[in-house]
Amino acid sequence: MKNHIIFFSGGKASFTVAHLVKERHPNDNIVLYFTDTKWEDEDLYRFINEASDKLELPMLTHSMGINPVELMFKQKVVFNSRIGNCSSILKMKTAADFIKKGIVPKIESWRNWQHLKSEDFRENPILYFGIGWEEAHRKAAIIENWEPYDVQMPLIDEVIDNDMILAKYKIRQPRLYDMGFSHNNCKARCVKAGQGHFGNLKEKMPDVFKELKEQEFYMQQYVSSYHIINRLEEHGFEDDVKELYLQDLEDCYKPYFEGKRKKPIPFIPPNLQFTTYSFMKRQIDNDVYPYTLRDLSIDIEEHGHQLDIFDIGGCGCFVNYEGVL
Ligand code: SF4
Repeated sequence: MKNHIIFFSGGKASFTVAHLVKERHPNDNIVLYFTDTKWEDEDLYRFINEASDKLELPMLTHSMGINPVELMFKQKVVFNSRIGNCSSILKMKTAADFIKKGIVPKIESWRNWQHLKSEDFRENPILYFGIGWEEAHRKAAIIENWEPYDVQMPLIDEVIDNDMILAKYKIRQPRLYDMGFSHNNCKARCVKAGQGHFGNLKEKMPDVFKELKEQEFYMQQYVSSYHIINRLEEHGFEDDVKELYLQDLEDCYKPYFEGKRKKPIPFIPPNLQFTTYSFMKRQIDNDVYPYTLRDLSIDIEEHGHQLDIFDIGGCGCFVNYEGVL
């Protein structure tokens, strides 16, 4: 009996792949594998649970227990279209550590365990990815990165209508597709997304957009403050003063990024006359938002600049390997 692991993202394509594998290898040991960023849309869980139930396949969920915002806070980096460490760490590293080395992350859960045919599913499995012909350029890198595993991406060679497969099982597609998003990742908040995507987010889920924009603003404040304080010794400060300031800074912002406070109380160390700090203080006092992709879509709306609706961007969470495996 052969082992098959399907990288199950909550997208329609990964469901189609699961269906194909089940249909073609009904007597084999098949596992749906989902890595949870803890930042997903509520309807994604409805979709993957229903998929596991109706396909009658076991689903294994792993998570590091932190979301992309908490990871940014931890790493002191504002993720963006070029730096998406959430994909590398929360998705790819979690998966690679488990499949290659058997390392189980902080959170693990099973659904439909009774359909697991053998617990040795990590033994020489075939790995499946739900990427299509439009992402065929990623194929070689994925195969190389997962060596020596057998990696298969059936949707590159076969053109299959995902909607027809969903209809066959009477499963409603994830609601983000109904709203015009091209994927079902991270409640449409992907740090790697482009102008067109964020324009759509602002229109379809204005509250989510607003919260995201605010989070980005405070993350920028926190990260820039951290890096300034971290270099205080260059300005003649003792190490223990620096550590004290860093602790104060963390105490001010952490509750906000953990969702325990509506707004952080920005921390400005006393008696610091650096230009950058003056700039930061101006930002806080005048509520001046930095210019980012998210602001860009507002700028476009309010000032009539042209929106690049074809700049969708977004994450290839399971196919983004830089420095991970
Ligand atoms: S979908 Fe975007 S935000 Fe979510 S983990 Fe992937 S890169 Fe990060």
